[in-house]
Amino acid sequence: MSKKISKKKITELTKTLREEKLAWDSFDEKERDLCYNFNENYKNFLTKSKTERQAVNEIVQIVKQNGFSDIETSNKVCGKFFKVFNSKAVVLAVTGKEKLSEGLNIIGSHLDSPRLDLKQNPLYEEVDLAMMKTHYYGGIKKYQWLARPLAFHGSIVLKDESVIDITIGEKKEDPVFVVSDLLPHLAKDYHAKKVSDAFEAEKLNIITGGLPIGNIEIKDRFKLNVLYYLKEKYNITEEDFVSAEIEIVPAGPARDIGFDRGLTGGYGQDDRVCVYTSLEALLNISKPKKTAIAVFFDKEEIGSEGNTGAKSRFFEDFISDLLVKEKVDFSERALRKTLINSVMLSGDVNAAIEPDFQDVHEKSNAARIGHGVCITKFTGTGGKSGSSDANAEFVGKLRNLFNKNNIIWQTGELGKTDQGGGGTIAKFLAAYGLNIIDCGPALLSMHAPFEISSKADVYMTYKAYKAFYKG
Ligand code: MN
Ligand code: MN
Repeated sequence: MSKKISKKKITELTKTLREEKLAWDSFDEKERDLCYNFNENYKNFLTKSKTERQAVNEIVQIVKQNGFSDIETSNKVCGKFFKVFNSKAVVLAVTGKEKLSEGLNIIGSHLDSPRLDLKQNPLYEEVDLAMMKTHYYGGIKKYQWLARPLAFHGSIVLKDESVIDITIGEKKEDPVFVVSDLLPHLAKDYHAKKVSDAFEAEKLNIITGGLPIGNIEIKDRFKLNVLYYLKEKYNITEEDFVSAEIEIVPAGPARDIGFDRGLTGGYGQDDRVCVYTSLEALLNISKPKKTAIAVFFDKEEIGSEGNTGAKSRFFEDFISDLLVKEKVDFSERALRKTLINSVMLSGDVNAAIEPDFQDVHEKSNAARIGHGVCITKFTGTGGKSGSSDANAEFVGKLRNLFNKNNIIWQTGELGKTDQGGGGTIAKFLAAYGLNIIDCGPALLSMHAPFEISSKADVYMTYKAYKAFYKG
């Protein structure tokens, strides 16, 4: 028999239940204005940064205006530094009062987003249309890319190795590109197929022209006409596509969503939302105790591969540059000590409960839109396979930090166990022995051409990152 528990005790107990708070409710009028203003700048960043190269350019421009200098050429021994790697990744530092070997406060996020890449020999002609072949990049639902305006963004290395950057499809007067879709009247056989079979990767070809050149005796008149425009306007020949990186992305700017404009819609919020919020957080701290680092990786969406991804050691290279500036007797050991004593947030997005697909979430452990920054202890698939499961002590530290700084936070798992899953850069940086955890806002429609964030979550993520840098 259990003894009778007093009403008072039960009332006290109910007060210890975990509260679910909305980020919006934590703002006074002034802060709500700050939140809306912050999101105006965020939308602007999204619109200007649709590829990793563009994001790097934008970041470098912003940090230069804020007194950062290139670590390769700067004579300064401390202060604000940046370094760009292969035009597609960048690291920033604001040096702190403590020695580097005491550890760094690092936030890492990724600049790449799912998209259609042009193949290296893209151009062909079919049924009197000039077409280009694409190879999709990252996890996409292929049907989302049909029958919608698409834009060309990329860099082409010409025969003489000079590089030209092209953006077509963003200005009002620009043409756009499109993957044509089948009319419903004739889609009977396709409708009977599984979604995964009905949309083939090799059918994600974009229409690039519909006007013939010359007269009827000429072969491939539509393809030739596109080559004519490319040559006239950009001095590009067909072979130049071999040394090009052209990304086909949704055309148009990031927009407000809803009557109340409480949400932002736009392409590439995974993960440029964490890029922008950590960038702004870094710009808004001065003389931190520990050196603050923001690192922006490429290639997360395809497993962090390549020399610009999180598996590359370019990040170590930057830290070694900092160590040399500090005039420590640089050694592999000094680098290792610096990294192992560091703490890191893997800034990446989680999935908020989808209003019309709630069955894929386990609701007591799923993130919700508008509930603040999301801490994700582990990712992975199945039995946490492929996850960097953060240590409870580190989660405790972060939780305490956020609570002390009035950060509205939540935790979230990516979907029901065995429903699917995903990974982030966390496990690759955890290899240094540092403590790391995934932390960022939760999105709706993640990986879609038009992803959705809550303005309150975006602003709260910025506040959380700033608190983390301050320590
Ligand atoms: Mn991501
Ligand atoms: Mn992603």
